Amino acid sequence: MTTRTDVDVLVVGAGFAGAVMAERLAEGYGLSCLVLDRRDHLAGNAHDTTDAAGVLVHRYGPHWFRTNSDRVRDYLSHFTEWHPVTYRALSWTAGRYWSFPINLETYEQLVGRPATSEEMAAALESWRVPCARPRNSEELVLSQVGPVLYEKFYLGYTMKQWRRHPRELHPSVCGRIPVRTDRDDRYLTESFQALPARGYTALFERLLRHPKIEVRLGAEWRDVARAVRYRHLVYTGRLDDFYEERFGPLPYRSLRWEHETLPQEWFQPAMQVNFPNDHAFTRILEYKHATGQVLPVTTIAREYPDDWRPGKDPFYAMPTPEAQALFAQYAALAEREAHVSFVGRLPTYTNYNMDQVVGMALAEADRVGPGLVCP
Ligand SMILES: Cc1cc2nc3c(=O)[nH]c(=O)nc-3n(C[C@H](O)[C@H](O)[C@H](O)COP(=O)(O)OP(=O)(O)OC[C@H]3O[C@@H](n4cnc5c(N)ncnc54)[C@H](O)[C@@H]3O)c2cc1C
Repeated sequence: MTTRTDVDVLVVGAGFAGAVMAERLAEGYGLSCLVLDRRDHLAGNAHDTTDAAGVLVHRYGPHWFRTNSDRVRDYLSHFTEWHPVTYRALSWTAGRYWSFPINLETYEQLVGRPATSEEMAAALESWRVPCARPRNSEELVLSQVGPVLYEKFYLGYTMKQWRRHPRELHPSVCGRIPVRTDRDDRYLTESFQALPARGYTALFERLLRHPKIEVRLGAEWRDVARAVRYRHLVYTGRLDDFYEERFGPLPYRSLRWEHETLPQEWFQPAMQVNFPNDHAFTRILEYKHATGQVLPVTTIAREYPDDWRPGKDPFYAMPTPEAQALFAQYAALAEREAHVSFVGRLPTYTNYNMDQVVGMALAEADRVGPGLVCP
């Protein structure tokens, strides 16, 4: 395809939001799309790659795909086969592995003997600190499990991850993690849990392989926008960046990873081990447990939370009241843009999962697509 200077839609970002929008607008409405990303690869934060040892690793941290949406699963299934996984994680503290999220086995490990669901429920009831309407993550967790389990599994992890005390963070931050009194130790609860069989990057290559779509990598939006005419903009980057930080920069949390390949088949007993109280990293990932690759070597990644500053990747919106108030100022400006679709995790300043972003992009393409088709 020749390089376009005149397109129907300019799409900023080749992650799930941008790629799904482009595919739907191209295939569903016949619109020409130019997709660009400042990074040198497809798939945004879901990008995966095979390392020198042949191990498929997620470059920006573990991406465990799951969904309750038939529409999202069926849509993505046009572009990938799936490798079913039941995601399981463990927690390491006080010198041993613990079953996690908290379930009956965790309780048995704590009391050091077999127990029943009824006994565990009664124990939680006696430990919990009742709170009718938790205002922050500390109140929420204390109201679910009480101080001992809170300090063992939540407090240290949250402090490392956010560099904020749980009482400064929205209840949903710790509320995402289930607490169960049966033996269900699944890390996640959605009905469909699977990874793209050949990886996310391969999925994106198929998603964007369309005669009406051109992709430019290593391309910055403002540089390209100067040279290209378009009728509609799909923008999946930071909203404060879009408005040149008019009200000041939004705060984000960043991360970094140390990858290490080891000359052994396995390093740890699960795909993810959390370290709430030991080390500077929060978790160690061993991707082979989830991808099902069979290899005599393994690669692990230690994940370190990091402060965000310009030049670093903005991985998480800060779930604090002050950050949300600042975002509301930018959101009010965005609402007035008639020819821009703000789609995805960054412009909504919400830490959505992949399936939620895909659902959002499908809905937005259906909303704007018909109006962009020339009569
Ligand atoms: C560490 C981590 C772990 C996660 N784990 C999971 C998980 O297990 N399960 C799950 O469902 N979700 C997970 N997520 C969330 C998942 O990454 C997102 O839901 C999804 O990737 C969002 O897609 P997106 O297109 O909105 O954003 P992104 O993937 O961030 O894509 C946006 C793209 O826009 C590009 N861009 C931005 N501004 C510009 C510009 N000015 N010019 C050019 N390009 C630009 C960026 O380079 C980026 O590639 C995780 C996220 C993180 C950070």
